[in-house]
Amino acid sequence: KQRNPDDFDILLKVVLIGDSGVGKTNCLSRFCRNEFLSNSKPTIGVEFATKQLTIEGDLVKCQIWDTAGQERYRAITNAYYRGAVGALLVYDVTRQKSFESIPRWLSELREHASPDMVVMLVGNKTDLRDQREVPTEQGQEIAQREGLMFIETSARDGSNVDEAFTRVATEIHGIVR
Ligand code: GDP
Repeated sequence: KQRNPDDFDILLKVVLIGDSGVGKTNCLSRFCRNEFLSNSKPTIGVEFATKQLTIEGDLVKCQIWDTAGQERYRAITNAYYRGAVGALLVYDVTRQKSFESIPRWLSELREHASPDMVVMLVGNKTDLRDQREVPTEQGQEIAQREGLMFIETSARDGSNVDEAFTRVATEIHGIVR
């Protein structure tokens, strides 16, 4: 049957969080537009992008929010989290410091976000094999301890990026449908 592009069954708001420079914007652009941006981002980032997925026969519109650099100033507002049902907490596997920030991001989530939000921990930049500082097992460990889903991605070569978003959307769909 013919469908209008605005005619979706479910709208899911998913937010991206994590330290500046871990690759949040690139995960978004890879997932929504299949693009990688090798240069620094434009001064004014987009607030969100959308992508439609079909999950168990439902047309699911994923609205994915990017911080647009606000995380640098610790200025992520309540509006950013409002209505969000999923989050991708991204760190950079080549930057231990970004991994050490995870507890701070989790407490921010607990403070601002809904307690039943689906959270996926994402270790990004796996393509930089010889620069890796955070072993996969460390990511798995904290994810298990904190009850998060876990995946490693490369926005650059595209590996697992679709899977990261699709797994979160599928999990949420299973809860809300
Ligand atoms: P954000 O601040 O978290 O949104 O990070 P960006 O998406 O702006 O990425 C920061 C930098 O890391 C940019 O120079 C990107 O090109 C680079 N980058 C992002 N993802 C990857 C990746 O998977 N692999 C590699 N090698 N570089 C990446």
